[in-house]
Amino acid sequence: MTRQDTFKHKGLREQLVAQLRDSGISDEAVLKAIGEVQRHWFLDSALDTMAYEDRALKIGCDQTISRPSTVAMQSQLLCVQPGMKVLEIGTGSGYQAAVLCKMGAKVFSVERQKGLFDQTRKLLAELGYRVRCFLGDGYQGLTEVNYGPYDRIIVTCGAPEIPAPLMEQLKVGGIMVIPLGEEEQEMLRITKEGEKKEEWKVEKFGTYSFVPMLDGRNMGS
Ligand code: SAH
Repeated sequence: MTRQDTFKHKGLREQLVAQLRDSGISDEAVLKAIGEVQRHWFLDSALDTMAYEDRALKIGCDQTISRPSTVAMQSQLLCVQPGMKVLEIGTGSGYQAAVLCKMGAKVFSVERQKGLFDQTRKLLAELGYRVRCFLGDGYQGLTEVNYGPYDRIIVTCGAPEIPAPLMEQLKVGGIMVIPLGEEEQEMLRITKEGEKKEEWKVEKFGTYSFVPMLDGRNMGS
């Protein structure tokens, strides 16, 4: 299948980057990555013209790709440096993983739903993004293969609580960005300054609306 990246797409992407900059995104590496990743390739072709609007869109299996402003915010809060190991929970369309990959991170991504996992792993490989994709329950982090601990962890679904295994798989000095809450979520940045809970620095960055993180009892199909 031939994928096109037309002048129109490029123009819309530039506009989106300008909009994100105006709204306060200042990490140049994030802006550059968003300027480069063809978001429309991560969506159904019927949504092609909407790909660069700041909105969440359907990606199948009842899930959504996060809004570009949310991807930009989470990526900025993560403070990623090239070469860092980043664990993502909720691969979804693969767009967030691709953005982190463009920023030079080594990305490991876990998805709960088999349909999305199969489709997105294939797409990322076809597009040349070296994201390591795993099918599993992100509550447990990445268990089957031990690539951790991670410099950074990003959760892209609404978590009712902070999953303990994720904090264990985060390096001391590492950062986790996680939307916490059931109906709506508060964006948290947790810096693991030491092993003990009292040594975790928690900062809050406003309210968001994510699809829920499904746990073992509520797996979806
Ligand atoms: N980062 C994605 C956002 C997708 S929406 C993107 O850029 O498109 C969140 C995703 O989290 C959905 O695909 C959903 O299936 C997945 N998810 C929900 N609960 C999960 C869990 N416990 N473990 C792993 N993935 C989960």
